[in-house]
Amino acid sequence: MMDRLASFGNDPSDKPPCRGCSSNLVEPYIKCAECGPSSFLLCLQCFTRGFEYKKHESDHKYEIMTSDFPVLEPGWTAQEEIALLEAVMDCGFGNWQDVAYQMRTKSKEECEGHYMKNFINNPLFSSTLLSLRQMEEARTADSHSFQTH
Ligand SMILES: [Zn+2]
Ligand SMILES: [Zn+2]
Repeated sequence: MMDRLASFGNDPSDKPPCRGCSSNLVEPYIKCAECGPSSFLLCLQCFTRGFEYKKHESDHKYEIMTSDFPVLEPGWTAQEEIALLEAVMDCGFGNWQDVAYQMRTKSKEECEGHYMKNFINNPLFSSTLLSLRQMEEARTADSHSFQTH
């Protein structure tokens, strides 16, 4: 009998998976700056959900790990990029008024324009965006009675 071995599925990178969901990490991802010595890595989705595990708490300092973070606009820091993703996660995709309110440092138009320009058309973020959209759909279907004050 012949064994037919498929070599697919071997991830060429030796990066550990996300601690939260065990998915393969796609840049940009989050590295906790306080947990160690072995790297405590989270994907953006788990990070924005505030994943906590043993000694790791969601308010730990963190680093954004990426070899190619698209800093396309000088006025936007990497922290602001992440804050924007968080705000979109919290407020829902398209709710730029609340996103801007949560961002504080950027206007509604800046948030929308920046997001559309740098995230929607960027393959680096396509998987993240897909998850954001799915979560957003689940959220709107789920929490219809949630009223803002
Ligand atoms: Zn994860
Ligand atoms: Zn930590």
